[in-house]
Amino acid sequence: MIRIAVVVLSLLAAALPARAQERTQQRIGVVASFSILGDFVRSVGGDRVAVTTLVGPTGDVHVYTPSPRDAKQIADARLVVVNGLGLEGWLPRLVQSSGGKATIVTVTKGIKTREADEGGDAHGHSHGDDHTDPHAWQSVPNAKIYVANIRDALIATDPAGEATYRANAEAYLAKLDALDREVREQVAKIPAGARKVISTHDAFGYFADAYGISFIAPQGVSTESEVSARDVARIIKQIRASKIPAVFLENISDPRLIQRIAAETGAKIGGTLYSDSLTAENGDAPTYIDMVRHNIRTLTSALAG
Ligand SMILES: [Zn+2]
Repeated sequence: MIRIAVVVLSLLAAALPARAQERTQQRIGVVASFSILGDFVRSVGGDRVAVTTLVGPTGDVHVYTPSPRDAKQIADARLVVVNGLGLEGWLPRLVQSSGGKATIVTVTKGIKTREADEGGDAHGHSHGDDHTDPHAWQSVPNAKIYVANIRDALIATDPAGEATYRANAEAYLAKLDALDREVREQVAKIPAGARKVISTHDAFGYFADAYGISFIAPQGVSTESEVSARDVARIIKQIRASKIPAVFLENISDPRLIQRIAAETGAKIGGTLYSDSLTAENGDAPTYIDMVRHNIRTLTSALAG
């Protein structure tokens, strides 16, 4: 009896790796241009897909320099998932040079776009000639459109997985509905007159439009360069004039200037808001849902008084 059990077990052990390998080989190779899209694809694709993300947590998706390894990933992929709206200007050349046969799907299709705010941008990137704001994922209702587009693209690429993709997408869309409600409940806790921050971040236009929190650029301050003491005097004036309760300024590295703003205006200095990239697994925002949740908590704790 025991001997039979041992024999069966060792047969299983011998069979397992082969089967696991087969399963891996059958997975649909999908390349996502950056981490937020990678998270969406994983949520919808589940075990049927093997997702590779080109721009990781420390990279800038706007100005990325692809590596030969990225070209290989694209050459091997069945599907390449991109944001479009001028975000990944480096991608067409990469796809062309890779010589692969992957289908490229732009997952912002169907989203009502907005114009990028004037006055340059916060994280030192260029939107080129196209003035469309590419950061559409910052509104959760838009994220649902991304997910629906990814579901449809996966079904078109791998029709045998249709039931799985539909079930996974439905479950994830329900989570996004809950997340959207959560954000609205959090915003409702902020007094209506206090729903504004000064920020050099240009990535929250869709978030602002969806949830009614204004992101006001500091007047007369270049978002590309370090904020000077003179800029700070202007920012202080602006905070007082517009009664702005909190500031999220990423391009002040001198802590004395930050302290001066806080001391002279009483405005809170906010924490980190994540816009274009998720963090590593042990960070504040390893998934899209974590990112949105982190951002709204950071905003409410700065604004709710
Ligand atoms: Zn950006």
